[in-house]
Amino acid sequence: MSDQTKNETQAENNVSSRRDFLKIAGAMVGAAALTQIASVGIKKAQASHGEEGEHRWGMVIDINLCIGCNYCTYACQAVNNLDDDMLYNVVTTETTENGDEYFLSRPCMHCDDPPCVHVCPVAATYIRDDGIVTMDYDLCIGCRYCEVACPYDVRVFNWREHSGTSPRVPAFGTPEVPPRPRGVMEKCTFCQHRIDIGVERGLVPGVDDSATPACVVACPTGARIFGDLKDAESPASVSLQANKTPIRLREELSTSPKVYYLPPTGQTNAATEEG
Ligand code: SF4
Ligand code: SF4
Repeated sequence: MSDQTKNETQAENNVSSRRDFLKIAGAMVGAAALTQIASVGIKKAQASHGEEGEHRWGMVIDINLCIGCNYCTYACQAVNNLDDDMLYNVVTTETTENGDEYFLSRPCMHCDDPPCVHVCPVAATYIRDDGIVTMDYDLCIGCRYCEVACPYDVRVFNWREHSGTSPRVPAFGTPEVPPRPRGVMEKCTFCQHRIDIGVERGLVPGVDDSATPACVVACPTGARIFGDLKDAESPASVSLQANKTPIRLREELSTSPKVYYLPPTGQTNAATEEG
């Protein structure tokens, strides 16, 4: 096969894989999207979006590097002291139309226009000026509107009184945040406690481990990249600039996630050709 034909075949495979990824990623969260549409009727008029601040934290997930080990999930469970059945982050196995498997890891998307914030009747969930969508657990009344509204299915209800320590401790970390009361809706905060303390100390989230979300630090392949999207030199910005085709899940909903994905690039075919 000539070099040009090889390149054209590879390019076609890349486009095909990307299309597959978009289709599967869309279908994966499709059911939740239906409930999101159903929730429009309870939309809160004065959703809190906050003023835009100095930073805008975001994450890039490189699908090509993810090996599905779930270390991100386990580190998240350890740091947030979560039981086995409580997941702020999920990793699923998906298959392209070519039959190639890949892993889709999914934290909260930290939407710029978050449906969960719109529907919360008591402003317990809100968006900070650095773009992190977070919770005031003292205000949460456990109505679960946010869970219904989230098109990405990443909200977790706390059914139990806090007891004991996560089975992921100490292998994947130690608890770093206070226990939440029974009956509240929980979520990923991009490890805001690490970011806040880190920034105060002059550390750089995404660069200095102690100021970076635990899932990013735990990833053994560097599939998760974090940083300030307002800083062109942050690891997340550099990654986005270097990749021409980053995508966001359910773009059509205009939620503007701050989690970006680098879609599959047809590695299997490339490997076959090299062999
Ligand atoms: Fe809210 Fe869901 Fe968006 Fe996270 S992904 S900000 S929980 S709507
Ligand atoms: Fe993928 Fe990294 Fe999570 Fe492992 S830790 S599942 S490689 S994102």
